Amino acid sequence: MRTLPDQEIVVVGGGLVGAALAWGLARKGLSPLVLDGEDLSHRASRANFALVWVQGKGVGAPHYARWTIGAARLWSAFAGYVLETSGIDVGLRQRGGFTFALSDAEMTVWADEVQSVAATLGEDAPDHAVLDHAETAKLVPAIGKDVVGSIYSPLDGDVNSLRLFRALHVGMINLGASYRPHSDVTEIVPKAGGFLLKGTWGEVLAGRVVLAAGNDNTRLAPMVGLSAPTLQSKGQILVTEKCAPFFPYASATMRQADEGGVMIGDSQEADTSSIATSQDISTVLAGRAIRTFPQLAPVNVLRSWAGFRVKTPDGLPIYECSPSHPGACVVMCHSGVTLAANHALLVADEIANRETTLAGDRFSGRRFHVPQH
Ligand SMILES: Cc1cc2nc3c(=O)[nH]c(=O)nc-3n(C[C@H](O)[C@H](O)[C@H](O)COP(=O)(O)OP(=O)(O)OC[C@H]3O[C@@H](n4cnc5c(N)ncnc54)[C@H](O)[C@@H]3O)c2cc1C
Repeated sequence: MRTLPDQEIVVVGGGLVGAALAWGLARKGLSPLVLDGEDLSHRASRANFALVWVQGKGVGAPHYARWTIGAARLWSAFAGYVLETSGIDVGLRQRGGFTFALSDAEMTVWADEVQSVAATLGEDAPDHAVLDHAETAKLVPAIGKDVVGSIYSPLDGDVNSLRLFRALHVGMINLGASYRPHSDVTEIVPKAGGFLLKGTWGEVLAGRVVLAAGNDNTRLAPMVGLSAPTLQSKGQILVTEKCAPFFPYASATMRQADEGGVMIGDSQEADTSSIATSQDISTVLAGRAIRTFPQLAPVNVLRSWAGFRVKTPDGLPIYECSPSHPGACVVMCHSGVTLAANHALLVADEIANRETTLAGDRFSGRRFHVPQH
């Protein structure tokens, strides 16, 4: 028995990726239904560090570097559209970002990364500067003596990520999408004329389906002839009490939110499925933060959390439409904050236009297929 009316298009997953896509589809005149999980589902979208970040991305993958740079350049216009459709200012700040090195070895690795991307992209590369301690201190006087130097990239920045999440949800509804929480899709059955989506909540027939279910895409994608492998990757973040403004830029490991609290992060753990935070990791994160900005030493950490990234084996997104089941696509990525502008304004348009490949077919999951001999 079908419990919901038939739908033209259903987006499975209402995290940042699904909400950005549904917002973009609704902006193109469609009325997508978003089926989302439970309140306590693991959501990278509620756990992230909120950077709009290009620095160091796309080493050995110039197509990803270009895709990320394009998103960062689109972000200002995107923030304006989101404000128009939701009434919510997502607090975009693109004043530039620093990666602070606490040793010569770190400095060498990070300088090599940005220089390798710049060399590959040539004149398309965004500006960056490799700065020593004194040059860094001129721009950021609060740094500690342990900061050996930094990489600075003017295109980097941040947003208020929870406000972005809320704004996309409000905006997509205002534009004509519908949202249904507590609606985990457990099974997708391809049918003549579409896809039957099933869960404990009931069933719905969808003419088209977009998989944006984060890590659960790995389970769902094969039901429509796609594959979406992921790796376990957990990140942890600390947040301090509010402080007077001292760092107006972003950094890969620290940012002062517009409300004054300092976010410190983020770690990478590959071998755990526990969502609990670890005291050892908090100690390392806090120690690095204090070496970078000694004035943080007396500041209290108010809370910390951990989240699982949506990370493919090579860290790049998967965007693919199913050749065997036309009308089904998968969209997933790490860096869903940075790439939100591309998902909402470019990928959603391609899906609305019934393109059979997404983003120039540069990020298909076929790259993970094992060749059959
Ligand atoms: C610690 C950390 C730091 C990060 N920092 C940054 C950063 O600074 N900048 C940046 O750009 N990105 C960052 N990211 C990445 C970014 O948060 C993610 O790329 C993004 O949130 C992914 O969004 P998503 O919608 O794909 O996944 P999720 O947020 O995980 O959402 C998936 C959604 O799908 C729903 N769902 C799952 N299964 C089903 C199902 N079967 N049926 C229906 N619904 C389902 C879930 O309920 C959930 O709402 C960070 C991530 C982490 C964890």
